[in-house]
Amino acid sequence: MKTKTDNSLVRINATLLLLAALFLVAWKLPLSGFLQDIVLMSLPTHMFAETFSIVISILIFALVFSSHKEDYRWNPIVLACSFLAIGLLDFAHTISYGGMPAWVTPGSPDKSIYFWLVARYIAALALFVTAIQIWKKSTWALNRYWWLFISLAVTAIAYWIGLYHLDLFPRTFIEGQGLTNFKVGAEYGLIAILLVPAYLFYKQAKSTSSFDVQGLYAATVITILSELCFTLYANVTGLFILLGHIYKVIAYIYLFRAIFLFVVRDPYEKLYQSQEYNRTLFETATIGLAVAKQDGTLLDINQAYADIIGYDIEEVKKLTYWQITPHEYISQEQLQLESLERNKSYGPYEKEYVHKDGHRVPVRLSGRMIEQNDEQFIWSSVEDITLETASEQARNESEQHLRQLAEHIREVFWLKDVKTNAIKYISPAYETIWGKTCESLYANPSTLLEAIHADDIERVKTSINLQTQGPYDEEYRIIRPDGSVRWVRDQSYPIYDNTGTAYRVAGIVEDVTDEKFAQDLLEQRVLDRTQDLHDKEVELISAKEEAERANLAKSQFLSKMSHELRTPLNAILGFSQLLSMDSELNVEQKESVNEIHHGGKHLLELINEVLDLAKIEAGNYEIESGRVDVHTVLNECLSLSTPMLKQYHINASINSDSSVALFANADITRLKQVFLNLISNACKYNHPDGSLNITVNTTETNRIRITFKDTGIGISTENITKIFEPFNRLSAEYSSIEGTGIGLTITKQLIESMGGTIDCNSKLGEGSVFWIEIPVYEAPETSGNYTSQRKIEAPNTTDTPASVKAQHSILYIEDNPANLKLVKKIIKQHPEFIFLSAITPEEGIKLALSIQPDLILLDINLPGMNGYEVMEHLLQHDKTKDIMVIAVTANAMTKEIERGMDIGFRDYITKPINVENFITTIQKHLGQD
Ligand code: ADP
Repeated sequence: MKTKTDNSLVRINATLLLLAALFLVAWKLPLSGFLQDIVLMSLPTHMFAETFSIVISILIFALVFSSHKEDYRWNPIVLACSFLAIGLLDFAHTISYGGMPAWVTPGSPDKSIYFWLVARYIAALALFVTAIQIWKKSTWALNRYWWLFISLAVTAIAYWIGLYHLDLFPRTFIEGQGLTNFKVGAEYGLIAILLVPAYLFYKQAKSTSSFDVQGLYAATVITILSELCFTLYANVTGLFILLGHIYKVIAYIYLFRAIFLFVVRDPYEKLYQSQEYNRTLFETATIGLAVAKQDGTLLDINQAYADIIGYDIEEVKKLTYWQITPHEYISQEQLQLESLERNKSYGPYEKEYVHKDGHRVPVRLSGRMIEQNDEQFIWSSVEDITLETASEQARNESEQHLRQLAEHIREVFWLKDVKTNAIKYISPAYETIWGKTCESLYANPSTLLEAIHADDIERVKTSINLQTQGPYDEEYRIIRPDGSVRWVRDQSYPIYDNTGTAYRVAGIVEDVTDEKFAQDLLEQRVLDRTQDLHDKEVELISAKEEAERANLAKSQFLSKMSHELRTPLNAILGFSQLLSMDSELNVEQKESVNEIHHGGKHLLELINEVLDLAKIEAGNYEIESGRVDVHTVLNECLSLSTPMLKQYHINASINSDSSVALFANADITRLKQVFLNLISNACKYNHPDGSLNITVNTTETNRIRITFKDTGIGISTENITKIFEPFNRLSAEYSSIEGTGIGLTITKQLIESMGGTIDCNSKLGEGSVFWIEIPVYEAPETSGNYTSQRKIEAPNTTDTPASVKAQHSILYIEDNPANLKLVKKIIKQHPEFIFLSAITPEEGIKLALSIQPDLILLDINLPGMNGYEVMEHLLQHDKTKDIMVIAVTANAMTKEIERGMDIGFRDYITKPINVENFITTIQKHLGQD
């Protein structure tokens, strides 16, 4: 824009410079004086130039005056009316020219110049005024007719003076002299005036292009040049007067152009642009726009409108809106038309259009009545609200879902405004639970609190005050209008706005009366049940105590039984042994005595095993598992079984890599018992010269498996399932093989109590395989080899006094005469021992204090004071505290033996007495072995 302005200004300046140069050339030309005298400006030329100016002046007037609107800027009308006066005055000037016919008064240069000067001054002032406030909107309340009047009045006055009172005006031209000073001065005055608008126009021309100020600038400058010419002429027909008129004509052309552009072309262009702009707005609007006749014919529509209904613009123009309106909307449409009639506008309202492809398009319409050329049209805007409708539909649906949910479940939904405490929503279940209408609550929210039970209200109020701070959960009672009480559970949650302030509280209330009753019932049941359980527990405790008592009784019974059975057996076995040593007995008698001894031994074995089984079944035994070297124990057992192996002529072998120690986690005593039993069975149920092969290995499950394979009689398939049944000897009872039928039962129990298993496989006549599996010892290895778990150990012989007497006194404290007699007989056979006895504990203690024997054999089951108490007495006295005491007891229970060893017995001998062992033990302790 700037460039365009600059370019045209440059062009104008160039033109002006050219014209100025022309003037300078004409002025300074050596020929100028000569040219002055030649008639260059003939009358017709002058006539033509002036007529041209007059026509342009009148055109300027006519153009501006006719197009002027009163609210428009005032400068153009001032300029236009000035040019009317100028045109009229120029006419007077032309007609007063020398050579023209007389007009009221004869023509003369003075007369002609007078009109000229007046016209020029008006022109200069008009430009001056225009330049000072270029095209600004008028604040003066003068309309164009006033300006016309002023201009005509000024012209009339000028005419009057020029025609009738020219003498009032100074001389301007003197024939033969040329221009007067006044005339020249007046021209300079004009130039001085014109310099102001020239400068102002130039300034504005540089900064604006809104109006052709450049044209005015050029016109003003050229007018100055023209005036300069008029200061120079000396002859009205000379060069300068011609040049002056030419400049004047050029100035008028510029002026006319400027006025024309402003009054005609610019507004027209603006109008055109604005029309274009409006059209573009119309056509490119994203909202559908339509102009329709009242009969429904669509006259003009935009693309958006056509798009809504799926037609081309041209197709739509052939339609009426009735054709695209579904039938059911016709009455609604009529109402809108009525509104249009009444209010000149309608809508907004929603309806549907029928799309070209037949589907319905929801639309929102509004519009107004417009008038053009006395005809009325409907101007409508149409929005496609498909999406809006769909989302509204979705919203409605979801609202409906929520409402259905809220209104059809047992619980009450509520929504409260925090500020006003007003209930915003309460679901109908309220009416069922509270027995009041929802409306009553909306009207008076405080009734909610009023219904709360007096005992709960304070608690609930305190909680309600904290509702906005977080979740709230309260159970309370409400009293319904009919006086009935219901329990409710009320839970609520605050709802926060964008600033994080709780502005609503939403809650849910459920009637928990039934649950409450159920809970009470449950609690009562729990209480009852707890009481029952307590009673049961008491019963159980007493049952347990009873069982413990029974267990104790059983233990005591076993202990007693063991003692009672062993005591007579002691006599049988002891005396039969003594008898068998008697050399006076004949062979037959010896055999009988051996039978007695044999039977007694069997009975003892039977008693031992029955007691063992009874103890196991009563759980009255302890397993002390530890690290046991299987090879060592096996070898020990084999060597212990040597007499038996020899007796049955059995060749036993161990098949295992004995260099690798295998440690089992087992109770060594019990494991020995198991091994001995299996070895014993492999001997008993074998053929003479049969074999026993023992293999030791580890299984994949990290257990140690010991297999006892014999070549014996074997077991039938039928019997093998019964092998571990107690007292079931599988027909062996009919053979000469001795046994009780409970060895394997005990073995199985022991193995299992050590975490192991036992099983067997056999074929009748071919032999049997028994195997046991026991856990591997996994604790970190301790230094040294296996240590026996057995606590009862043989007394150390180094305890024996160093000086051994030739004869040793032995005191036997025993209340049972048979036993006393037996022991006396045994000891008497050894002359190195002096035998002393006491049948009561007191007597025994007394005797011990007085004679201080070397060894005391002490029975445990003594009347009045048992062996342990006697021991304590002996230990209390200096004289007796160092005497060796060996317990002689039928109490073969391990626990009791341990107890005895703990309080200081040197050793123990169990009844029935094995004569050989008995003597060996005594000799060992007295240093005689
Ligand atoms: P018993 O005291 O009779 O030996 P066990 O409980 O040790 O009692 O054995 C039960 C029965 O199983 C035996 O009477 C015998 O019939 C059978 N039995 C045990 N071991 C073997 C074996 N190695 N070979 C064949 N039969 C056996």
